[in-house]
Amino acid sequence: MSTQMSTGNRPENVLSSGISGDAMPASLLSPFARVAKQGLRLAPLGLACVWLVSLVAGCGGGGSPTEPDTPAQCGPYPDQLDSPWVLPYPVGDSYAVVQGNCDGRGHAAGTTNQYAYDFGMPTGSAVVATGSGVVVGLEEGESNDKAVKGSWGAGNFVTIQHPNGLSSAYAHLEQWSVLVEIGEFVSQGQLIARSGNSGTYNPHLHFGVYASGYATAVTFRNTRAHPNGLVLGEVYTAEGY
Ligand SMILES: [Zn+2]
Repeated sequence: MSTQMSTGNRPENVLSSGISGDAMPASLLSPFARVAKQGLRLAPLGLACVWLVSLVAGCGGGGSPTEPDTPAQCGPYPDQLDSPWVLPYPVGDSYAVVQGNCDGRGHAAGTTNQYAYDFGMPTGSAVVATGSGVVVGLEEGESNDKAVKGSWGAGNFVTIQHPNGLSSAYAHLEQWSVLVEIGEFVSQGQLIARSGNSGTYNPHLHFGVYASGYATAVTFRNTRAHPNGLVLGEVYTAEGY
């Protein structure tokens, strides 16, 4: 088992530090470099760091929930019919959104994870690539149990760089469940890992499509209509595409 990451600051601490996600502060680069020697694989390190900064911001849960922003404050969202993305789980599977976009917790408006989603996937659920691309970062040695880890963070994750310049990130994965390697090309819908509970209290998949460290508003072409993004509490089935 790899040693615990040094990225496990509580989300609110990271957010309050003013890290934008565009830069890689020297104070954070050093811990990442240490972890890289112990099992965290990044290629190249600098490219993947922006995702780590975003993911360390995490899914919240440590603070007091506030009222979610209204849809009017969140978006706009691209046309679902033209979306290059599919849901990050296999066709036929259905999961609820347990933290949505602009949610007043870890995905609050103005944060790097404003447009990230948490899907209520039990540990061991299949996670697939939302689009084709190249794996640029992963970690799979983190404990499945947050209580063991003792701190917040992305836990185990995979990041994929897509040809359109955006990257997708899948976090809190099950320990030793990652099925891809750095530099590997993966196809849309390919099984890449299993979901888990690493770096958080409750099993779920943290997912987002990122540009320069910020999650972007996305839609998915293989599920029912969601013109204002997926809705918190609603269940979405991954349909064929
Ligand atoms: Zn999240």
